[in-house]
Amino acid sequence: MRTLCDAHTHLDQFPDGEIPAILERARQVGVEVIITAGVTVQSSRRCIALADTYPPVWAGVGVHPMDLTSPLTEDDLASLESLARSSPKVAAVSEIGLDFSEGAPDLAWQYDAFRQQIRLARRLRLPIIFHSRALPGRPEAHQEVLRLLREEQAWEVGGAMHYFQADLATAQACLDLGFHISLAKPLLRLPHLEEVVRALPLSALVLETDSYPQPFKKRRDLWTEPKDVRLVAQKVAEVKGIGLDEVAEATTRNLWRLLKRPGLLPV
Ligand SMILES: [Zn+2]
Repeated sequence: MRTLCDAHTHLDQFPDGEIPAILERARQVGVEVIITAGVTVQSSRRCIALADTYPPVWAGVGVHPMDLTSPLTEDDLASLESLARSSPKVAAVSEIGLDFSEGAPDLAWQYDAFRQQIRLARRLRLPIIFHSRALPGRPEAHQEVLRLLREEQAWEVGGAMHYFQADLATAQACLDLGFHISLAKPLLRLPHLEEVVRALPLSALVLETDSYPQPFKKRRDLWTEPKDVRLVAQKVAEVKGIGLDEVAEATTRNLWRLLKRPGLLPV
């Protein structure tokens, strides 16, 4: 069985006691690399603790746009930077980005926090796995995210647009900027994403689940977990008419290159 990678999760939001079983369920279907992204300074710290404890886990540090309760401060940035430098298991600056949904935090705070954290990623030479949520019918919001990445020279570090649900033009703009497209379970239900996958080269893709606790689903076995990255890989294989092994090998290689860790390639 080829190795699969989950490029984006929130494992730190699960209770400690659940982590070994989640990792074991993932391992049983070949998922051996899992990035867990911070959404606050505190959660970034917990992501690093998990990464330092469990070999398959790697950490992202960052403050999520939806978690801004005030402007990002110099202290927050200094904490993120020292956390990122504290462990070789920190693989990315994540989760950062912009969110244009109803009720999202002040956009001026979001823009400033995103720019500051892109600069942090460049200082740290870490890739950026970013969040971009447009309002329904307002896809131009993604262009704002890409504009900030461009203006802040984020191509120096690259990364991926996480939980991709946008159109092909957005995907191509993202690739032009030196970023990958990270696909999750929406590919299983949104037909336009099949068109995006068909049109893009395999070298553009990484896979993820964005797993976090989902108590709104009554059955625990239906919660999304890193093991489900295999379902996303199977769908990519089906849409492209190729084997699952080929998808696993390519997306693992892509993620490892994106993270600039070729020496550790687990394939
Ligand atoms: Zn996320």
